[in-house]
Amino acid sequence: MEIITKREDLLAWKSQSSNQAKGITFVPTMGALHAGHMSLIELALHRGRTVLSSIFINPLQFNHAGDLAAYPKTPESDLHMLQHACCDAVYMPEYNQVYPEGIAVEHFDLGELEERLEGAFRPGHFQGVANVLYRLFKDIEPAEVVLGLKDYQQFMVVQELGRQHFPALQITGAPTLREESGLAMSSRNRRLSVAEHQQASFVAQQLMRLQEVQRTMSFETWKSQFLVFCQTLPSIRVEYVELAEQKTLHQLRDWPNEDKAVVLIAFYSGATRLIDNILLA
Ligand code: AMP
Repeated sequence: MEIITKREDLLAWKSQSSNQAKGITFVPTMGALHAGHMSLIELALHRGRTVLSSIFINPLQFNHAGDLAAYPKTPESDLHMLQHACCDAVYMPEYNQVYPEGIAVEHFDLGELEERLEGAFRPGHFQGVANVLYRLFKDIEPAEVVLGLKDYQQFMVVQELGRQHFPALQITGAPTLREESGLAMSSRNRRLSVAEHQQASFVAQQLMRLQEVQRTMSFETWKSQFLVFCQTLPSIRVEYVELAEQKTLHQLRDWPNEDKAVVLIAFYSGATRLIDNILLA
């Protein structure tokens, strides 16, 4: 596996004839890799192109310095996992390789997407995501990018970025990989104590019942029962739990008849903020 740290080496790697001929499938990450990330690499490998992953903790998308500082870093294990998965190359740039001119944040028109849910609770987060992916897509020129649907709103932001700036880019969403307990895999799970992990898993288990629950009660009834349940879990503090249209992320009051819906949640378990969602058929 090729390990690339400099932007000029990335550009040279991209221009190699075999990569040009096969095209590139790109899997961006912030490292602290787990099986969820590996499922994206596996999906990417099935495309038959050269697979490039990236590990870059993008400071622009963190809205709390403490969260950035506490973000887990496991570069040795990350490289081992990528190599083991047969990823072709990994880009691990320093900050100045991605932002050579320092902080010159560009503004992207993300419409309502940046005002709701994660956008509302993490001001500037999606601008940070758009800035880094815009730069990486420009440099890498992938044919396809593979993203996790766990970050559903981020997936929609990238679709918007693609529509506006990279119309030929194929944007693929991969299903959320969960631990046996039901908890969605996340780099942040490493920060949970045993009790926080267990209580976060209880939250995930409630979400996973939703496909069934839809047939028996309204969303509002489920939500109030769910919030009462969360109050019995001392580590859990729910930030939002909302029903929305999958295509637009417009808020819904109750299960829709025709359009597909998604339930999105952000919650704290102890000091760790987690997000999750369930796509309803
Ligand atoms: P991150 O390193 O957290 O920025 O995640 C990198 C990519 O992996 C993003 O596209 C995430 O949506 C995706 N991802 C994170 N957790 C999971 C998971 N449990 N299952 C599938 N994809 C995931």
